[in-house]
Amino acid sequence: MAAKNASYLIIGAGVFGVSTAYHLIQKYPNASVTLVDRDAYDAESRVAASWDWNKVVRADYDDKVYVRLALEAQDIFKNDPLWQPHFHQTGVYWTCRSDYAQNVINHHKELGRNDDIVALPVAEARKLYGGLFDKADYTGVKEVLINKASGWAAAGDSLRAVTKRCIELGVKYVTADVATLEFDGKGTCTGLMTKSGETLSASHVIVAAGAFTPTLLEWSAAKSRNFGLRAGERITAAGITTGMAQLKGDMYEKFKDMPVGFQGYTPEEGKPFIGSIPPTKDGELKWWGSKIFTNTREVLPGRHISSPPPTHDYNQWKVPGPLKQDIIESRNLWYGPESADWEMKKHRICWYVPDPKSPLILMPSDMNSRDAFTTTSDFIISPHSASKGLYIATCGSFHGYKFFPVLGKYITQMLEGELEPELVEKWAWTANGPTLRRTSSIPTRR
Ligand SMILES: Cc1cc2nc3c(=O)[nH]c(=O)nc-3n(C[C@H](O)[C@H](O)[C@H](O)COP(=O)(O)OP(=O)(O)OC[C@H]3O[C@@H](n4cnc5c(N)ncnc54)[C@H](O)[C@@H]3O)c2cc1C
Repeated sequence: MAAKNASYLIIGAGVFGVSTAYHLIQKYPNASVTLVDRDAYDAESRVAASWDWNKVVRADYDDKVYVRLALEAQDIFKNDPLWQPHFHQTGVYWTCRSDYAQNVINHHKELGRNDDIVALPVAEARKLYGGLFDKADYTGVKEVLINKASGWAAAGDSLRAVTKRCIELGVKYVTADVATLEFDGKGTCTGLMTKSGETLSASHVIVAAGAFTPTLLEWSAAKSRNFGLRAGERITAAGITTGMAQLKGDMYEKFKDMPVGFQGYTPEEGKPFIGSIPPTKDGELKWWGSKIFTNTREVLPGRHISSPPPTHDYNQWKVPGPLKQDIIESRNLWYGPESADWEMKKHRICWYVPDPKSPLILMPSDMNSRDAFTTTSDFIISPHSASKGLYIATCGSFHGYKFFPVLGKYITQMLEGELEPELVEKWAWTANGPTLRRTSSIPTRR
């Protein structure tokens, strides 16, 4: 239950922040709920990882908790008029080199779902969808998971629509760059200060700043001299490249009804988890690369952490040659030689937060070499242990978007101490932070 006169400042209007605002304002229509973001919600270009042409929406997890939450979210995507226009139920085609497919199917059965989900032998699967994925890499593939209930959503469009609905319901949207958090004499978080010097106050301050979260906590730690605020190894900002090809004429016709495609490699294969999302109505086909990199820089004198480039747009449209090459190599793993002539329309570096417990990423800021990581991909949805009134809601390496409709429900439960114990533990900001396992392995989720 919220205390009387509770007020909420949410830093970051990506899916974590907006979903929180949406659930809070519905539960407490008279409460003061403010979203603060460096970009306008309807800006032409935004740095949010959540702001994208499209994102996969699926419930094919080998972790039963996320299957349950993803099904809950997917049901909203399919049935609620606010979300439904953005969802496309194209299905998922997933090459599995482990027992992943069987684990997913078992979880669905245990949860009593009858979704159209099967694991097929490779020879049978590659004939599907007119043989679209016949030229993909099937080395080591055990079987192919087909889930016709999954699909993708127009991510930027849905983010804009839900934010607009929040504003209509009474949420205040402030476009401002946050410089630091504010604290009272006892170390309680009382609000924020923007780069232009304006202060905003609230009884609850929720940091949902995605990849910028560690930098904001560094700045706030320095200002308050409360060094327990720092993210340490819990959260690391990382970048990954996406590419989009323009499909025209027959080529668009061929691919327009394709499912989402995933190449599920295991760490032993030495390749990451990559895939491709069906073309938009304008014929733009997106996939992502394999290089995941940090950008370690001095965010304060003597403090070096990974942080997006310090420009307003995180230099997200300035994609260096080696990362464009990464996109070509990933394309070939899916579409083979016939894709060599495709016109590349866009490249973007997307900054996000890999899982805090992930063994990580060991790429220097020159963006040329690479390493990758395995991940448990858990979110952080938790009170911050170093300051009363301060809460963190972000993370979820590669896979947070699909939970957009329900994230705020769980974040609200966290704010009110009502989160179920299993989720409290799973999403905790532990006092000392998890220990990172610095091994070289592969992300497994999207
Ligand atoms: C390339 C890529 C592909 C992905 N594909 C999928 C997918 O297919 N399916 C899926 O489910 N998930 C996917 N994800 C993961 C998903 O995008 C993220 O988990 C999710 O978007 C994170 O949301 P967020 O709200 O934590 O952060 P963000 O969306 O990054 O939002 C953070 C917000 O904070 C704001 N901000 C930051 N600093 C400040 C500041 N100082 N002051 C004011 N505002 C600030 C930013 O402007 C931004 O709007 C993908 C991620 C990437 C990188």
